[in-house]
This record gives sequence, structure tokens and C-alpha cells, in this order.
Amino acid sequence: MILNTFNLSLKQIEQFNKYYKFLIEENQKYNLTSIIDRKEVYIKHFYDSLAACFTLDFFKINNYCDIGSGGGFPAIPLKVVFPHLKLTVVEPTKKKILFLQRLCDLLQISDIEFINQRAENFILNRREYYDLVSARAVAVLPVLLELVLPFLKVGGIFIAYKGSNYYEEQKASGNALKILFSVIENIYEYQLPENMGQHAIIKIRKQRETELVYPRRYAQIKKKHL
Ligand code: SAM
Repeated sequence: MILNTFNLSLKQIEQFNKYYKFLIEENQKYNLTSIIDRKEVYIKHFYDSLAACFTLDFFKINNYCDIGSGGGFPAIPLKVVFPHLKLTVVEPTKKKILFLQRLCDLLQISDIEFINQRAENFILNRREYYDLVSARAVAVLPVLLELVLPFLKVGGIFIAYKGSNYYEEQKASGNALKILFSVIENIYEYQLPENMGQHAIIKIRKQRETELVYPRRYAQIKKKHL
């Protein structure tokens, strides 16, 4: 089985089966993914989300926030495998948040906060708070850094899920990393099973508190990233 590497329990295998079925059933209504083939969903969504296990010890993480969760990736697969996580999902599209709430009821997972806001608005409630923040397919790295790093406590980690062509984004991020007192600690490159693509997880560590002027308004960030 595709997820064998993650040593899932029977309960977790069943949760992923239910997740797949519900995602496909509800996809038309909520417009969550263009990938619908079972094997592809397991590899490109579930396996890919869980790949962070290879680069991070989740048992050391308590408060975890996923920005722009969409259909739940990577947050929900990680929460299934690590139920101890106190998870916040931030997703501005109302119908996607509804999907995520219904999904979590179905999978009987608890300790999740559903925030129907944009990251740059929600930050007012949660500065310097999380041990871990993730984002997959939300924005380019220098934009993400300004949106995400203010959420982290000092010493906290941001994992950015990227395709194999992350170099340009990495190159453009030097100034943002400096201004936001953070460093790239490691870039984990991996091959998805069945040759379904080469991906990377960029692991960034925050070293000092973020200045209160960040994040700026989204229009400003988009217009000129740090
Ligand atoms: N992370 C999921 C995945 O990998 O399948 C969804 C990716 S989808 C392409 C991007 C998501 O980011 C959308 O659901 C969108 O609503 C959300 N998003 C875009 N800008 C955002 C922001 N400023 N704050 C929070 N979420 C945002």
C-alpha cells in the first residue's frame, strides 16, 4: 500500500479511505481538487502531505497551524497520523471551511479550530504563538514568509511545500528571511511514489520576534514582497 511507509494503524487506514471517498463525493460542490483518481489522490495529496514526517519530529510539536488548507492538505493527513496536534486550519473560502468541518466530523478527529479568514487578518489573534506552520500551494515563498512567520513563536518552524523548481523562489527570499529574522534550516527533496513527481519541503526556523509592522496589507505584499 502507498502509505505503508507511515506505519498506519487500522483506524488511520480507515480514516484515509473515508477521506478519499468524501473528497470525491463532495468535490463537485466544493471545487477542492483536480486530482480524483484514487492512486493519484493517495500519492499526490496524502503521501505528499505526510512527507513532512521525514524532515520533522511531530512528537515535539504541539500547536500547529495550516494556512490556506483548501481540501485539507497537508493539515488533515498530518492530524490523522499525529492526533496529539492542536491544529488550526485557516481558509478564507467559506465553502471549503464547511467541507473541512464536515470531514473532521466524519473522521471523528477533534482539537481542531476552523478559521474562515485570510492569514493576514487572523494574525491579529495569534502572533508569536505556533510551534509549526505549514502552507502548500498558497503563494510564492517570499510572500508566504511575510504572511506566515509572524504566527510562529521564536524557535518555531515553517514548512513550505514546493515543487522541484523552488530555486527561483528561494533566491528571491533572502531579504524577507533577513528582515523577518529567520533562516532556511534544511531543504528536503523527495520523489513521490510511482514517479509522480519530485517535490521539496523548505524548512525555515524563526530566530527572533517579528516586528509589529509585518505582515503588511496583502495588496502591499503582493505588489512588492520584502
Ligand atoms: N493547501 C491546499 C492544497 O495544497 O491542496 C490548497 C491549495 S489552494 C491552491 C490555495 C488555498 O489558499 C485556497 O484554498 C485559498 O483560499 C487559500 N488562500 C489564498 N490566499 C490566502 C491567504 N492570504 N490566507 C489564507 N489562505 C489563503
